[in-house]
This record gives sequence, structure tokens and C-alpha cells, in this order.
Amino acid sequence: MRDRFRAAELETPDLDARLLAQAAFGFDAMALVRRERDIAPEPGATDLERFALRRLAGEPVSRIVGHKEFWGLDLTLNDATLVPRPETEMLVAEALHFLEGKRAPRIVDLGTGSGAIAISIVTGLPKAKAIATDVSDEALAMARQNAERHAVADRIEFRKGAWWQAVPHTELFDVIVSNPPYIATEVIDTLMPEVKMFDPKLALDGGWDGLEAYRAIAAQAARRLNPGGLALFEIGSNQGGAVSRMFGRAGFGRVEVLKDLQGLDRVVLASHS
Ligand code: SAM
Ligand code: GLN
Repeated sequence: MRDRFRAAELETPDLDARLLAQAAFGFDAMALVRRERDIAPEPGATDLERFALRRLAGEPVSRIVGHKEFWGLDLTLNDATLVPRPETEMLVAEALHFLEGKRAPRIVDLGTGSGAIAISIVTGLPKAKAIATDVSDEALAMARQNAERHAVADRIEFRKGAWWQAVPHTELFDVIVSNPPYIATEVIDTLMPEVKMFDPKLALDGGWDGLEAYRAIAAQAARRLNPGGLALFEIGSNQGGAVSRMFGRAGFGRVEVLKDLQGLDRVVLASHS
């Protein structure tokens, strides 16, 4: 590569630079190594320069390249979708563990964004069907496209609407799952530029105390869950107490808080018993 594009000179971590270079030149990781000493071809060289400037301004690599790996699946992103986070894979792992051996489970993913959670769960369970909801048409379009790419579009129904309003009243679920917006409105401005400037506000803003989405979801979750089912929610690390009390009051007999790999409260599990 031309000297000015050597990874170390981009002032971003080496991995970021490599991923941006791969996207700019249309190379996979191996091709990038193999062609390290080549003269950088156009238009890739110009693209890489633009990508590097965007990264230096705080834009996450996954936004720049327009996709992100989640649960081993490559997901395409647009402006309306949150970049799926590795900690959210905990919801997928817990759901798959719970559903193991169930014949034809029904799942609902509230606020699906890129489709990350619903697509990952359904991909792991050949007989499972899901409803995935969002209020954003753009997010739903992206999620649907991701489902098509991963060959599960025939088993996920995408529906537009606010929380339970998008879900038929008559239907009960074996798993209810959601990573709703949970940042308190006034805290959003204090987040890293990667998040506050580039993730959609609709995906982050949990209202004045960060708990508005859980209130709306808790209002109907217990009666939408099959008697032997499981509800799982991602939460902010300081919300374990408040969210578990809320679901306890909402009619769930058993509520548990799980910690993520960093030892922080991250998931609330709720079931009827
Ligand atoms: N599930 C995805 C993930 O884990 O990567 C996206 C999670 S993002 C934190 C929250 C999602 O909820 C966004 O896609 C947002 O558009 C959606 N959302 C916001 N308000 C909503 C509402 N009232 N009803 C349904 N979805 C909503
Ligand atoms: N986990 C995201 C963050 O802190 C927030 C996503 C959400 O509100 N669910 O950046």
C-alpha cells in the first residue's frame, strides 16, 4: 500500500484501519495482507482516505462500512439501525438455551433494529417462528433484508408499531425478547461520540429515567407469554433493581438479573414461575 495508508499512520487502532481498507478496496483479510506492497488502486485509495477521516471524527467502523457481525452473522446497517452490540448476544444465548428441545417455538422481538436478535435466534432453531417489531420503517426494511440474506425471512414476520401495538392480541409467545432504548434522555449527550452522534436517537432514548420502554412492555408482557415461557430484556448496568421490580409487579412470579462478561447487570429474565 502507498505509505500514507499504512495502518499505523491512520491514528486509529490497527484493526479499524484494516477493516476500513478491506471495505475501501473490496478485499478480504487475506487479500489485504497479500497485497500489502501493491500501489493502492483508485477509487479505493480515495475512499480509504474518506473513511479514515470519518473514523477520526468518531464514526464507528461498522457505520462507515455499513455492516456488523453479530452472533456470527453479517448484518447490514442503515441510519435507522443501532449497531448491534456484542453484549446483546447474551439475549440470544439465553433464548436459545431456554428453547432447546422445544418443538416449534414462537418468539417476539420488540424493537428489532437490524433484526439482530430475531434473526440470530431463528437461525439457530429450524422450526422457530418470530414476530419482529419496530416503529421505524427504515429499520424494518433493513431487518427484512437481513432476514432474506440469512434465509429466514419466511419465518419472521416484520410488523410496524409501538411495542405491543404491533403484535396481535390473540398470540402467545414462548420467548419475549427485547433490547429496548434504555438511556435516560439527558444522559445521551454524555455518551461517547461513537454512540451519541451515530446511533439513532430512537434506538437509545429511554425517556426521562431511561425506563419508559420497559413500562410499556411490562404492561402486557405477562399476559402475552405462554405459561411455560421466558421473557428476556437487555438493561443498562444500573437498571437491574428497577427493571426486575417492575416485572415482578407486572405479574411475573420469577425474575432474575444476569451479569455480562464485565460483571455488570445486563439482562433481566422473567417467567411465570
Ligand atoms: N434489537 C436491536 C439490537 O439489539 O441491536 C435494536 C435495539 S435498539 C436499542 C432499540 C430499537 O427499538 C430501535 O430499533 C428503535 O427503533 C426501536 N424502538 C424505539 N421505540 C420503539 C417503540 N415505541 N416501539 C417499538 N420499537 C421501538
Ligand atoms: N447498549 C447501548 C449503549 O449503551 C444502548 C442501547 C440501548 O439503549 N438499548 O451504547
